[in-house]
Amino acid sequence: MRARMGRLVDGFGRRFRYLRLSVTEVCNYRCTYCLPDGFKKSGSMASLTPDEIDCVVRAFAGLGVAKLRLTGGEPSVRRDLVEIIGRAAATPGIDKVAVTTNGWNLKRNIQAWREAGLTNLNVSIDALEPAAFHRITGRDQLGDVIAGLDLALALNMPTVKVNAVLLRDTVETGLDAFAAFVRDRPISFRFIELMRTGDNAAYFDDQHVSGVDLQGWLAVRGWSPVPKAFDDGPAIDYAHPDYRGRIGLIAPYAPGFCDSCNRLRITAKGALRLCLFGELGVDLRDLLITGQEEALRTRIEAALVGKPAGHRLHENDSGDTRQLAQFGG
Ligand code: SAM
Repeated sequence: MRARMGRLVDGFGRRFRYLRLSVTEVCNYRCTYCLPDGFKKSGSMASLTPDEIDCVVRAFAGLGVAKLRLTGGEPSVRRDLVEIIGRAAATPGIDKVAVTTNGWNLKRNIQAWREAGLTNLNVSIDALEPAAFHRITGRDQLGDVIAGLDLALALNMPTVKVNAVLLRDTVETGLDAFAAFVRDRPISFRFIELMRTGDNAAYFDDQHVSGVDLQGWLAVRGWSPVPKAFDDGPAIDYAHPDYRGRIGLIAPYAPGFCDSCNRLRITAKGALRLCLFGELGVDLRDLLITGQEEALRTRIEAALVGKPAGHRLHENDSGDTRQLAQFGG
C-alpha cells in the first residue's frame, strides 16, 4: 500500500482527521425538532454490517483519520454496537472512538462500551427538568440518562460531553440549571443552535435563537472562551473559575463556521456525505469488501474535490436533509 497518511485535504485546505459514521437511521426518541412523529421505515433498511464498517474505518484510518464517531439515528439500538466499537478501537491509526447517544440505555451499556475501547462519549440532554425533557424527546427518562452519564464519569471515560439543542423555550425558562449541572462535573455542556432541516421549517421559525444570546448570558456571568487548539472543530468552549465543567456553543449560523470544518460523514448505508446539508453522497458500499481497499481509498480521495466551502443554511437551503437522524447528526 502506498503511504497516504494525512492525505484527506480538500480544495479549501481543510484537513480531515475525523469521521462521523452513522450505524443506523433508526431512532427510538421523538425529538420535537427531528423526528416528532417517531422514526418511520422507508426503503431498504440494510445498515452497514460490522465487516463493512471495518472496511470503512480501515480505509479512512489509512488516509489519516484518527478519530471516529459512531452516531445515527440512535447508535445504541444496534445490538452489535460493542463489536463495532471494539473493532474500531483496535484499528491501527484510530486513537479515539466516540459515540453520540440519547442515553436511553447508557446505564446498562456504558461499562461494556468502555471496556471495548470507547474513549469519548456525547450524550444528548435537551432539558434538565423532567417534564421539559419528556416534552422534547417523547420519553420520560431524564433520571436514567443522567445516571448513565454519571456512571460514565465514574468509569473514568476520558472525554464526556453533553449536547443540547438551543431552543427559545430553553432560553426563556433560564440557563442557570445548565451552569449548575457543570459546577462539579468535568464535562463540556454544548449548546447547538437549532438547524433548519427539510422537515422542521415551522418549528425552526418558532424556536431558533442565535447563539449570540447564549454568549451574552455567559459573558455577564464571568465565563470566558477557551482558546482553540489547531485541528479543533467549530465548537467554542467557555470556562469559569468556579466550575469544573465548561459550557460550549456550536453556532452553525455564525460567519465562518464551515471554515474550520474537520469532519466527513458516512451514512448508515455506506455513502460518503461531504456536507451534512448537501445533496446525496458518494456511494462506497460496492467497495466495502476484502480486496477493494486501494479502489476504496482512491474513490474517497477523488470525492473530496466535491466538498463545498460551506452549507447554505442562511439561504434556507438544507440540501436533501429532512432531519438529522437521516444521515447522522
Ligand atoms: N440519537 C443520538 C443522539 O440523540 O445524540 C445521535 C443522533 S442525533 C441526530 C445527534 C445530535 O443532533 C443530537 O444532539 C441532536 O440533538 C442533534 N440534532 C438533531 N436535529 C437537530 C437540529 N435540527 N438542529 C440542531 N441539532 C440537532
